[in-house]
Amino acid sequence: MKIGFIGLGNMGAPMVKRLVASGHDITGYDVMESAMAALSEVKMSFSKDILTAAREQDVVITMLPNGEALIKVVEAIIPVMPKGSCFIDCSTVDINTTRQVATLLKNAAIHVLDAPVSGGVGGAVAGTLTFMVGGSEDSFAIGNPLFKIMGQRVIHCGADGAGQAAKICNNMILGVTMIATCEAFALADDLALDRQKLFDVVSTSSGNSWSMSTYCPAPGVGPESPSDNDYLPGFSASLMLKDLKLSQEAATIHGTPTRAGQLALELYQDFVKSSKGGALDFSAILQDLTSRSKDQ
Ligand code: NAD
Repeated sequence: MKIGFIGLGNMGAPMVKRLVASGHDITGYDVMESAMAALSEVKMSFSKDILTAAREQDVVITMLPNGEALIKVVEAIIPVMPKGSCFIDCSTVDINTTRQVATLLKNAAIHVLDAPVSGGVGGAVAGTLTFMVGGSEDSFAIGNPLFKIMGQRVIHCGADGAGQAAKICNNMILGVTMIATCEAFALADDLALDRQKLFDVVSTSSGNSWSMSTYCPAPGVGPESPSDNDYLPGFSASLMLKDLKLSQEAATIHGTPTRAGQLALELYQDFVKSSKGGALDFSAILQDLTSRSKDQ
């Protein structure tokens, strides 16, 4: 397939490498020259402007920071995208923007999928991402073979916006369980309970979650995770805060009571302010919660 790939950052770059390795004809574009220069060894073309990346492509994939960038890109490229081609957005953005771009693209007779991912940079490099996809069956049939190259699991969640809905629900659970796990470690410290023993019990008991058993926030405990690497991300606290804002925004619009989600958002807001601008991994909030415990 001829594919335009827009947004070659931490996630986009490894995703594009997998598409190139599978033999697709890729044209990449990023507003940052350095993002394109970092891929100069990869057998793909680069476009100096956004229109060339979208013109005459079978598929255009975006991996952008937010909804503002997404709408800007979509409005720019719609006039040059062929009718019957497919637009796939893999970024994490708000559902309203997702639905807005879906309407614009469908009105121009272009297939559209929202297909955010879970699995982080490691998953993008290894090709083990999970894709959660919103859009019609016809559009899904176009995107699915590409998702299988870049990821391990693909779930067609429903109509336009359903992929983003699944993503923000998942990440709300992740934020809340990470905080609960860190609070449990802080309490264990104060109760003189060994962290390893807490892990041994919880990871095989009813308090278990991915935050404990796969991504343990306590250094030296459980499988290797960012906590063992000075909390270098992984998944940064600022990205977790972004996703919690998206879930709370959606909950407010729909009147859904998500108080634990709201509390997680406030705790991550404080943490991002007090730490290095949220550059640390989101599991580093353990340090914040244990130091608060000592202060009191
Ligand atoms: P990033 O900031 O590294 O990459 C985004 C890229 O988009 C940058 O290179 C930027 O220059 C480019 N860009 C911005 N505006 C543009 C425009 N108008 N035209 C072309 N390029 C433009 O971010 P990332 O970590 O790769 O994340 C991308 C998306 O994936 C985000 O929505 C994020 O929430 C989501 N996500 C990230 C992770 C992760 O662990 N990093 C995990 C899951 C989902």
